[in-house]
Amino acid sequence: MLGGIEAGGTKIICAVGSSHDQILASETLPTADPVASFQQVCAFFDQAQASHGRIAAIGLAAFGPIDTDPGSPSYGTLKRTPKPGWAGANWIDGLNRLPCPVAIDTDVNGAALGEWQLGAGKGLRTLAYVTVGTGIGVGILKNGRSLSGMAHFEMGHIYPPHDYESDPFPGRCPFHNDCLEGLASGPAISDRWGLTLSELPSGHPAFELEAGYLAHLAATIVLTHMPDRIIFGGSVMKAPGLLERVRTATRALLADYLVCNPAGGDLSTYLVPPALGDLSGITGALHMAESRASGPRHVRTL
Ligand code: ZN
Repeated sequence: MLGGIEAGGTKIICAVGSSHDQILASETLPTADPVASFQQVCAFFDQAQASHGRIAAIGLAAFGPIDTDPGSPSYGTLKRTPKPGWAGANWIDGLNRLPCPVAIDTDVNGAALGEWQLGAGKGLRTLAYVTVGTGIGVGILKNGRSLSGMAHFEMGHIYPPHDYESDPFPGRCPFHNDCLEGLASGPAISDRWGLTLSELPSGHPAFELEAGYLAHLAATIVLTHMPDRIIFGGSVMKAPGLLERVRTATRALLADYLVCNPAGGDLSTYLVPPALGDLSGITGALHMAESRASGPRHVRTL
């Protein structure tokens, strides 16, 4: 049996399955403080093990910033997250009483892995997954493995050009004010207009503004990683017509420079929605557990 956890800022999805595409039981918990959340997650897996058998490994796709380096002493520790109470919390300690290893990656890398396994990015060499919701995050996979440097990527915090005349909103990122997340996350839209993008009429100027900011991210990803495809997920992307506008704005920014695009300039198969809907993240988390259960046991050879 495999365990999967998709931990977001508002909810935590737990699941057990016999493989990444065979979910046998799942539960969605509201994200509380770390102590209560760890207890609830452990209680789910206790119950799941009693019903379905021993869990060999758990994959955790978690909101961050979080230490995802298995060789680090603070592996699984949340860093400077604005989520109250979570900075400094450690998932490995929190799940300590479950007798199995835990593999950890970011929530967006988890969603990317799910889509790479079964969805809109199936088997692609280089895949980018963007989520636009409470925050903005990007995961890049190379042959099904997430890329990182000294820590996971933070592309949601790039600075797109900000024209204060057309958009006087100062931004709301607690660290950078008008970085992309500060200007284009779901809460930034609600702060400006009092409604979510899905609640605004389709001709509202919020759509063009949002599409323009997200196109800067898409163009940056293309120019820095040349992925085979970019998947745009998250609650904000569910607004009807937004993805089409992002495609148009991205084409304009790249100005026919997208020489490697197999679609020949038509971005309708290049910037796409997730095929697994809301199951991308938990599917990826179960795949991480599968890899951890069957992978090498960190044997060091000299
Ligand atoms: Zn920022």
